[in-house]
Amino acid sequence: MATKALYPGSFDPITYGHLDIVKRAAQLFDELVVAVAVNPNKQSCLSVATRIGLIEDCVAPLKNVVVQQFEGLTIDYAKATSAGVLVRGLRAVSDFEFEFKMSQMNKTLDASVETVFMMAGLEYQFLSSSVVKEVARYGGSVDKAVPPMVARALTDHFASTANVCSA
Ligand code: ADP
Repeated sequence: MATKALYPGSFDPITYGHLDIVKRAAQLFDELVVAVAVNPNKQSCLSVATRIGLIEDCVAPLKNVVVQQFEGLTIDYAKATSAGVLVRGLRAVSDFEFEFKMSQMNKTLDASVETVFMMAGLEYQFLSSSVVKEVARYGGSVDKAVPPMVARALTDHFASTANVCSA
C-alpha cells in the first residue's frame, strides 16, 4: 500500500534545513505533503500564501511532494487526508523534549498515525526560521540558510517598515 506522509510546520520561512528533510522524506515515502499550519494565534512573518508559494517553488522538482495548508490539529488533518505518517525534523538537543511530548500526545489521539523523526543534516543543526528572520530583519545575508527566492521575499518583507513580525 502506498504510504502518504505529512511534514507539518510553520515554515515561516522554509529553510535549507527543512528542504533537506523534505528531499530525504520524499525518497522514503510514496507521497509527501508539506503541510503549512495556519494558526491565527501565532504571529507569523510571511503570509500563508507567500509561504506556500515559496515552498512550491522549492519543491517543484520533487514529483511526489505537494504543499497544502491546514488549520487545527495536525493529527486531525493527517486523518482527514489519510496520511499514515507524520514527519518531524530533530535538531540536536533543542527539539527533543517538545517533539517527544507532541508525538506522545498525537499517539494518544490516534495510535494509527506514526511519527517518524529525521535527524537534521549536520550543517543544518543550528538553523532555524527564527534566526533567519532575525538576521534578515537587520539586513544581514541569509544566502547560506535559505534559497534565493526566500531571501528575496524576506528582503521585500522587511523593506516595508509596516512589516514587523516576531522572530
Ligand atoms: P513548527 O512551528 O512546527 O516548529 P517549523 O517550521 O519551525 O514548525 O518546523 C517544522 C519542522 O521542521 C519541525 O519538525 C522542526 O523540528 C523541523 N526543522 C526546523 N528547522 C530544521 C532544520 N534546520 N533542520 C531540520 N529540521 C528542521
